[in-house]
Amino acid sequence: IYGEKRLNSRGVNLNIRSHYDPLMRAMRECMETTYEARPLLAFDVATDPELVHDVTCPYDRRKKVGSVLWTSKEQAQRAVDAAWAAFPRWDATPVAERAAILRRFAELMEEHMAELMTLCSREGGKLLTDGVAEIREAVDFCRYYAAQAEEIFGEPIQLPGPTGESNELVMSGKGVFAAISPWNFPVAIFCGQMMAAAVAGNTVLAKPAEQTSIIAHRVVELLHQAGMPRDVVQLLPGDGPTVGSVLSGDSRITGVVFTGGTDTAQIINRSLAERQNAPLPTLIAETGGMNAMIVDSTALPEQVVNDVIHSAFQSAGQRCSALRVLYLQDDVADRVIEILKGAMDELHVGDPRDLGTDVGPVIDEEARENLQAHIDKLKGEGRLIAETKLDAAHTADGTFIAPTAFQIDGIETLEREQFGPILHIVRYKARELDAVIDSINGRGYGLTFGVHSRNESFAEDIARRIRVGNVYVNRDIIGAVVGVQPFGGQGYSGTGPKAGGPNYLPRFATEKTVTINT
Ligand code: NAP
Repeated sequence: IYGEKRLNSRGVNLNIRSHYDPLMRAMRECMETTYEARPLLAFDVATDPELVHDVTCPYDRRKKVGSVLWTSKEQAQRAVDAAWAAFPRWDATPVAERAAILRRFAELMEEHMAELMTLCSREGGKLLTDGVAEIREAVDFCRYYAAQAEEIFGEPIQLPGPTGESNELVMSGKGVFAAISPWNFPVAIFCGQMMAAAVAGNTVLAKPAEQTSIIAHRVVELLHQAGMPRDVVQLLPGDGPTVGSVLSGDSRITGVVFTGGTDTAQIINRSLAERQNAPLPTLIAETGGMNAMIVDSTALPEQVVNDVIHSAFQSAGQRCSALRVLYLQDDVADRVIEILKGAMDELHVGDPRDLGTDVGPVIDEEARENLQAHIDKLKGEGRLIAETKLDAAHTADGTFIAPTAFQIDGIETLEREQFGPILHIVRYKARELDAVIDSINGRGYGLTFGVHSRNESFAEDIARRIRVGNVYVNRDIIGAVVGVQPFGGQGYSGTGPKAGGPNYLPRFATEKTVTINT
């Protein structure tokens, strides 16, 4: 991939070509394929033309990626039956076998890297570089959870006890998990959820986001090819309220692992709570953020701007971890804003498959309209600081939003998460720092947070006082790495478990203490 940049600017590099040609061939092949996604259930399903939906590219709505057959309510119910029936067998399968399937699946994803990352661009509007990172993260989740599972679910833990008595703690699956995922990480989060639940011994009903059903279908095809039984992980593409409500309303669903908007998590939570004669469920929810960064007067403006550009505009700001509110201390604000304006002028918005593109499209027309309405409102109030220019030649047929920066009075003035390339800037005076921290904490979200300062004790003090899941000091605030920066938030941002961390899998497990009088 990076080869092409060099090929363009410095002429042909033969060493690169040998890696580059097969990759480009696979990507071209994927570009020319029209995909047909459908439910992948324990049983075959007939095609109902009324449930077939066309899928087009976010960067050019005239281009078709393929079509997707949605799951009907009846099929969703039958899928729960199958998952429930398969659970005891799967839970009794030795963990080494379960982990081996995850590892084979990881290898298959690596083999199909070019196809999957191209699909991430075609269906999800991702830059190719974001696509690579996405597949790598999915692979990391598989290998990390496979290794963790072998430790946790291998031998029971022997506990101390009086003479003549043995005590042990056995970990096993809880039952049937619904895994409901968003479109913005259609491979990584989708796989992370499914694999954590499955390797812990649960059967899984995976409901991907509507917008990225084709990617999900291709991924689950590979998973089944890797040896995952069809009744252990089933794919239920379809619309959230229909398929989601069947899953969260069924009394046999033992747990839901959900990533998406805070409002949707609350709907699911209510639906689980309203079930009659149902055991108490587990809800693992990873939701939205209103992520802030505090910059003090000792920070290095050039580094701040570099990290702000990545944090706010990479992936068109469509990351839950993305920076939404930048707090600049007065002494440094003018300089940072001046450099930021220059950097935003340089951003190129356009086709995500073009290696010169910095910012791709937003996911769909509804997202574009919502973001544009927010932009128009703040512009109307005279708050615009900077805006990247959109070139109609590259953006006319897709759903694009120009990166923008606005000055606002504080995080409390924002009603909701704006899931796109919109940065809000607040100026503060040194004596107002405590109030700034209180208002960020008081807003109630708690996902990511950044601090830029060359005063170590200042940074440490803020990191300690801020109530979020992931704090980053003197760097960007996106791109958590599996096993390195376990990821997940608190408050409106989630129920707390950290994906890609050592304590994640036990949330999918039940513990049994066995005491034997010997
Ligand atoms: P979303 O609208 O909440 O959708 C997420 C998933 O929930 C989709 O599969 C959706 O299906 C489904 N759904 C919708 N209504 C449902 C219902 N009534 N019952 C059950 N399921 C239902 O979120 P999104 O727009 O896809 O994703 C963006 C959001 O995800 C942002 O808020 C972002 O911050 C958050 N996010 C959080 C994290 C994290 O780790 N904290 C990571 C990534 C994204 P449909 O697609 O069919 O509507």
